[in-house]
Amino acid sequence: MRYAVFMRLGLAIILFFTLIPLLVACGKATDNEFVPYLELFRKEATARGVSIGAHVEIAFETTIYGGYAQCLGGGLQRIVVSEYWWSLLSALEREALLFHELGHCALAREHVADGTFSLMTRVAPGADKYGPRRSEYLDELFGGQ
Ligand SMILES: [Zn+2]
Repeated sequence: MRYAVFMRLGLAIILFFTLIPLLVACGKATDNEFVPYLELFRKEATARGVSIGAHVEIAFETTIYGGYAQCLGGGLQRIVVSEYWWSLLSALEREALLFHELGHCALAREHVADGTFSLMTRVAPGADKYGPRRSEYLDELFGGQ
């Protein structure tokens, strides 16, 4: 009897220490801040007949070379965003930045030559360019593969 109780307690402890870290890791996969942008990206894709199969995670983390954001390669499908730079961007600039990175991570798009009308130039267009022609930029993003 005592042995059975001991075993059950042991099992409970093992489950606790294996499941809790898993749940915590899952919860942090995408920071809440980015969920609306992911949903909007999928909505804009669907409106253009593109289905996004990839599951992409976006999180605040230290970026490589101190950049704004990066799509980590190697099949990770993970975008890391600098919390510092994020805090300085307008809503439109944030969208342009994330949609550029999602272009890499979710659409497998590479950079295009600077000066090309695209979100996929090395430096994403500023809000002054992106805002007035947003719909055309998104047509190019989802159609320019
Ligand atoms: Zn890029």
